[in-house]
Amino acid sequence: MIIDGKALAQEVEADVKPRVEKLAAQGIVPGLATILVGANPASEMYLRLKHSACSRVGIRSENVVLPEDIHEKGLLDKIQELNNRKDVHGILLQLPLPKHLDPRKAMMAIAPEKDADGFHPCNMGALLLGAERLVPCTPKGIIYALEKLGVNLEGKEAVIVGHSNVVGKPLAAMMLNRNATVQVCHVYTKNLAEHTKDAEVLVVAAGVPGLIKADMVMPGAVIFDVGINRVGNKTLGDVDFDAVKDIARAITPVPGGVGPLTVSMLLAQTVEAAEIQSGKKY
Ligand code: NAD
Repeated sequence: MIIDGKALAQEVEADVKPRVEKLAAQGIVPGLATILVGANPASEMYLRLKHSACSRVGIRSENVVLPEDIHEKGLLDKIQELNNRKDVHGILLQLPLPKHLDPRKAMMAIAPEKDADGFHPCNMGALLLGAERLVPCTPKGIIYALEKLGVNLEGKEAVIVGHSNVVGKPLAAMMLNRNATVQVCHVYTKNLAEHTKDAEVLVVAAGVPGLIKADMVMPGAVIFDVGINRVGNKTLGDVDFDAVKDIARAITPVPGGVGPLTVSMLLAQTVEAAEIQSGKKY
């Protein structure tokens, strides 16, 4: 089975709309502000997708463009200004930043309750402690898809390839929160295939096209290919899709898999942030 990320994203949007309407009834229009520093065609393309998704569900969105050579204080002041604005409920700092800026410092400046990407240490720490509030969008999308597929993670062997702060680490925490047995592999892992062959659920976020071959996969595995790799004029994932699709029980394509789901989760996160700011309790 090919997991249709676009169809799942539409379901997320349908879930989000009534929450937006409920907020509207309280006089609140959820607002997302994205920040782009400098010109970056890939970032600009991702931001366009995010803003058009916002407009489909009634989230007000704005893009703040800062000059490439902005100094740290200028960026931190802008974040503070957005933190203080009542009409901005979610703030997303588009990465990567130019080299002279420290992304960690900038992300820590975002108010935790407005942290649409879920990267703030308060939100990451809460996630690790089992309280999932605002969490990173890609892992949230993968967990959503597993639930929709009827895959209960409890007791499952889950293997994640890639240990980034954006995907691998938060996903490992989310899977542990659901009582999976989790292995996290990375570039220093010896014998990657020995690990990936254990996986009933395999998530690959390495950024290496075709890293996972057919002989590295357990028959019947559910596979999420997070990788986005431009090779010539094609976009390829980290999994050798054609060879693996007949072995897997279910697999996401690239493009059209994890990408659209990630964008839809940003909408859910922005609405969640607006709900938190309007007094939602945990
Ligand atoms: P990253 O680029 O920060 O780090 C890559 C990770 O993969 C590291 O943990 C590294 O150790 C591991 N790795 C690299 N080569 C490896 C190898 N040969 N064997 C095993 N592990 C290896 O990670 P990221 O930011 O999570 O991005 C990973 C990929 O996912 C990229 O292609 C990125 O574009 C894509 N991505 C897609 C989405 C989406 O929405 N679809 C979201 C985030 C990232």
